[in-house]
Amino acid sequence: MTQETGLSRLEMYSDKSPEKSLDCPSYVAKPGADLFGMISENGKVTYLNEAIRIDKTFVEETQKGRPAEERFRFSGKCIQHGCHQWEDGKCGLIQKVIQLHQNPPSAFIQHCAIRHTCRWYAQEKELACANCSEVFRNSEMVFLQSL
Ligand code: SF4
Ligand code: SF4
Repeated sequence: MTQETGLSRLEMYSDKSPEKSLDCPSYVAKPGADLFGMISENGKVTYLNEAIRIDKTFVEETQKGRPAEERFRFSGKCIQHGCHQWEDGKCGLIQKVIQLHQNPPSAFIQHCAIRHTCRWYAQEKELACANCSEVFRNSEMVFLQSL
């Protein structure tokens, strides 16, 4: 490894790198993911005070019912180019969510335990949060109704 490459790697993983800790708030239920929200009866997200790191037991238990991703919200590392939603150097998924729901930013911003590392917030700020709570069931219903 050349010194230049080594420095690049150090920069990549240093605390100064904004990319080090950005998380995807539309992550799958797998061990090591963080549970940060629950889907309420009305289809909106109730955000937990603190995120909970999930383990294999949690995943196995939740696989017995409806898909865990329809009942909870999870976060995990945004893989950028490794994700098919990554377009033009940013997440295309939150842009589609905003276009779909078109909720304007509100003066009130809900508590969210992962905001400090959220890719969507880092990218779209309060506009992301205004549309985030409808990502799951409501999104599916709107998609179905538009067919
Ligand atoms: S690009 Fe968007 S959808 Fe893909 S992992 Fe990152 S935050 Fe998640
Ligand atoms: S977009 Fe806002 S509300 Fe949604 S997960 Fe990110 S910080 Fe939380």
